[in-house]
Amino acid sequence: MRIDVLGVGFDNVTMAEAVERGMSLLHSEGAHYVVTPNPEIVETCRENAAAMAAVNGADLVLPDGIGVIKGAAMLGTPLKEKTPGIEFAAHIVERMAGEGLSLYLLGAKPGVAEQAAENLKKKHPGLVIAGTHDGYFKEDSPVVEDIRQSGADCVFVCLGAPKQEFWMAKNGPATGAHLLCGLGGSLDVFAGTVERAPKFWCDHGLEWFYRLCKEPKRIGRMMKLPLFLVHVKQEKRKK
Ligand code: UDP
Repeated sequence: MRIDVLGVGFDNVTMAEAVERGMSLLHSEGAHYVVTPNPEIVETCRENAAAMAAVNGADLVLPDGIGVIKGAAMLGTPLKEKTPGIEFAAHIVERMAGEGLSLYLLGAKPGVAEQAAENLKKKHPGLVIAGTHDGYFKEDSPVVEDIRQSGADCVFVCLGAPKQEFWMAKNGPATGAHLLCGLGGSLDVFAGTVERAPKFWCDHGLEWFYRLCKEPKRIGRMMKLPLFLVHVKQEKRKK
């Protein structure tokens, strides 16, 4: 059973359980997709029914940050722990490398996915990179075809939310991959073009603040965080 936070149903799993579920989806017939919503995405879903359907239609819905964890606790239905997309992705890559499985990297500005592929290969020599494509394309079908031809087992879809969720819901089955993971800006981190907050900030639930200091232009997007907390409080009162 999923835990409802303002309409988005989150899977109540630890990171270790999330990785097990991800790997089992990877080994199952058909296409499956994973999403990692943060409060900003939850707010987007509240305003956009199609985004809500794409997020809730995922096979695994993981709380990306501390905001969702706090929201779930305030609503009296706590989630086990935060399972940031980038960390989930790193674990999946490690497991895939151990099994010699192949990964396709889709998204970010031209050159970023290639750099991310190079860095991941260096770190995990067993990993097979099936292919890469930047995230600024006009038509889906040539990209879908490229993934299908590559024979990738898994695709990291990093187009930003809710674009990546729509993309996976619509195109997942046609890619032939068994697992697609919507991971926002993760390719920029794997490529080293964007730095992740140091451990101290992550451990103290301050990653969002670190990112805001590094990229002040995110302030508009981040205003959704206080809005999320207001909506959680309203929901709590209703309960
Ligand atoms: N992006 C993309 N295609 C688009 C829009 C965005 O590939 O049409 C990429 C963008 O270059 C970045 C990622 O999607 O690499 C989104 O990053 P963001 O910081 O918004 O994601 P977050 O990690 O905050 O969810």
